[in-house]
Amino acid sequence: MTVGVAILGSTGSIGCSALQVLSRQRDRFRVAALTAYSNADLLQRQAAEWKPGYVGLVNSGKRETGNGKGPECLVEAATRPDVDIVVNAIVGAAGLEATLAALSAGKRVALANKEPLVMAGELVTRTAREGGGEIVPVDSEHSAVLQCITGRRPAELARLILTASGGPFRTWNPERVAGATVDEALRHPTWKMGRKITVDSASLVNKALEVIEAHFLFGLPYEAVDVVVHPQSVVHAFVEFVDGSVLAQVGFPTMELPILYALTHPERVPDAGVRRFDPVAAGTLTFEPVRAELYPAYGLGRAAAAAGGTAPTAFNAANEVAVTLFLEGKIRFGRIADTIARVLEAHQVRDAASLETVLTADAAARRLAREAACS
Ligand code: NDP
Ligand code: MG
Repeated sequence: MTVGVAILGSTGSIGCSALQVLSRQRDRFRVAALTAYSNADLLQRQAAEWKPGYVGLVNSGKRETGNGKGPECLVEAATRPDVDIVVNAIVGAAGLEATLAALSAGKRVALANKEPLVMAGELVTRTAREGGGEIVPVDSEHSAVLQCITGRRPAELARLILTASGGPFRTWNPERVAGATVDEALRHPTWKMGRKITVDSASLVNKALEVIEAHFLFGLPYEAVDVVVHPQSVVHAFVEFVDGSVLAQVGFPTMELPILYALTHPERVPDAGVRRFDPVAAGTLTFEPVRAELYPAYGLGRAAAAAGGTAPTAFNAANEVAVTLFLEGKIRFGRIADTIARVLEAHQVRDAASLETVLTADAAARRLAREAACS
C-alpha cells in the first residue's frame, strides 16, 4: 500500500522539490492531488506525469485544467479520502483554510507554508489536536529541531537556536539596505526559493516568522527561541537540553531532505538523490549575532510575538502587503519595515482563538498596510 500525497502549490519552488523527492520514492508514495494558483502549463505537465485523482487550479480563467477550480479546490484536494499527507507548499495566508481543513480531517500536514501558523498559531495547533491531524514542519530549521528532539520528552528541552543566512545584505550598511532594489533583494546567497520568502530572508522577517512558527510547533516560550546568523547555511538549528548538551542538525542546503523527512517522520528511508554531507567540503562555519540595526523588521516581528494574540496576525499581514508592493516596484525596501511598524502601532491586540477574530485582524492590517505603505 502506498501513501497518498496531495501537494498544494506543486508549481512552486517547494512543490517542485517535493515532486523531485517523490520521483525517487514511488514504491512508498503516490501523488493523489496537485494544485497551483495560475501556472496551468506546468500543472498540466505535472498532472500528465503523475496522473493524480485530483488536479486543481485556483485562478483558472477560461482554461479547463483538471477537475477543481477557485479557492475551494485547496480544501477539496486537502481533504480527499485517498490523501494521507498534505504537503502545503502554498505561499502566504492563502494556505490557512486548507491547513485547518486537512488537520480537521485527521491528515498529516507537511507544512512549508509557515504564514498560517504565524497568523493563527493557536487555532491551527488546536485544530490539529481536536481533529487528530498532525503538523510536521518542512521548514529546514524546524525540521532540524524535530530531528534533534524526536524521542525526547518536552521537559528535557531548554532552548532552540535557529540559524539565519543573513541574506544578501548581511555586510551592507542600513542606509544602503533601505534603498535596495528588487534584483538585489532577490539575490539570496545560499537558497533558491520563491520571491516572497527570498525578500523575507533579506529583511529577516522570515526568521521572525520562524521564531513564531517554532513557538507554536514546539511549545517553547519566545525567550527560549534564539537566532544566530550563519552565512554558510550548513547548521540548520541547535537544540539545547536541560543538562546543557546541544545537538545540531547539519547538511548542505537543500529542501529535499526536510521534505522527505516530513513525509516519513519519525522513520528514515534510504534516498540516493541528495548530496552526501562532507565536513571538509563544507569548509569553515561561522556564527554572528543578528545586527538589529540592519534588520528592523526582525525586531518588530519579535515584539509582535511577545505581544501575542493577533499581533503576529497583523505582523504577517502587513509584511505580505508590503512585500507585494516592493516586488511590484511601488515602494523602497526600507518601507517594508516602516509599513509593519505603522500597522503594529495602530493594531489593537485581541485574543486570537477564533477564526473570525484572526480573519478580521488580518483584513484590517492589510487595509492599514496599503494606506501606510503608499502615504
Ligand atoms: P513559490 O512562490 O515558489 O510557490 C508558491 C506556490 O503556491 C505556487 O505553486 C503557486 O502557484 C501557489 N500559490 C501562490 N498563491 C496562491 C494562492 N493564493 N492560492 C493557492 N496557491 C497559491 O514559493 P516557495 O515554494 O518558495 O514557498 C512556499 C512556502 O514554503 C512559503 O510559505 C515559504 O515561506 C515556505 N518555505 C519555502 C522554502 C523554500 O526553499 N522555497 C523554505 C522554507 C519554507 P503558481 O505557481 O500557479 O503561482
Ligand atoms: Mg527556513
